[in-house]
Amino acid sequence: MDFFYRPPKFLKLIFPDIIWENEEDKILLTIDDGPSDNTMRILDSLDRFGIKAIFFCTGKNIEKYFNEFNAIIKSGHIIQNHGYEHKRMILRNRKKNFEDIDRSCQVIRELTGNTPVLYRPPYGLFNLHTLQAVRKNGMQMMLWSLLTGDHTGDFAAVRRITNSYLERNTILVMHDNRKASVVFDQSLEHIVNLAEERHFDFSLTELKTSRDKK
Ligand SMILES: [Zn+2]
Repeated sequence: MDFFYRPPKFLKLIFPDIIWENEEDKILLTIDDGPSDNTMRILDSLDRFGIKAIFFCTGKNIEKYFNEFNAIIKSGHIIQNHGYEHKRMILRNRKKNFEDIDRSCQVIRELTGNTPVLYRPPYGLFNLHTLQAVRKNGMQMMLWSLLTGDHTGDFAAVRRITNSYLERNTILVMHDNRKASVVFDQSLEHIVNLAEERHFDFSLTELKTSRDKK
């Protein structure tokens, strides 16, 4: 079961171009699926702990929750790309993959003036077309080293998984959606305390992708 929360080494070897861990040797917090009704609360929690995050937003939710989207930017967090419709891209053909990814890039570019450099496929699922569409748009794929399990809405699960697997260079995934909203604050507080106990720092998300080094 933990296979899903913590991608195994062989996957990282098969896809070396994908970002799986934070090179900065700090915890990188990423928050998927927003903006949503819960975004403002999430921003308050992050401020309380002085943490910056990368928000992987969907184009559709950016259009729906425009004020929340602007608040994320204003709070100094980073917006990156989680596709337009939040579909399982692994099941989609070349045309659908390119349409969804092109469209989400366009939304972000028009509203922020910045072109996204990172893409995270919904559910972490992708195919060859997805990889090509990501590359064509000048982005790199970022997956994760640890899903917190907040999307289950079960804090006991979050506690078990993070206690077992939180490491110094973890790319951590939390969610800005309805199901996770029930446990988000409690989960973040637990993770912050755990990091402090283990003497891990949080990244301030200066985006350094492996591409920058080439
Ligand atoms: Zn998602």
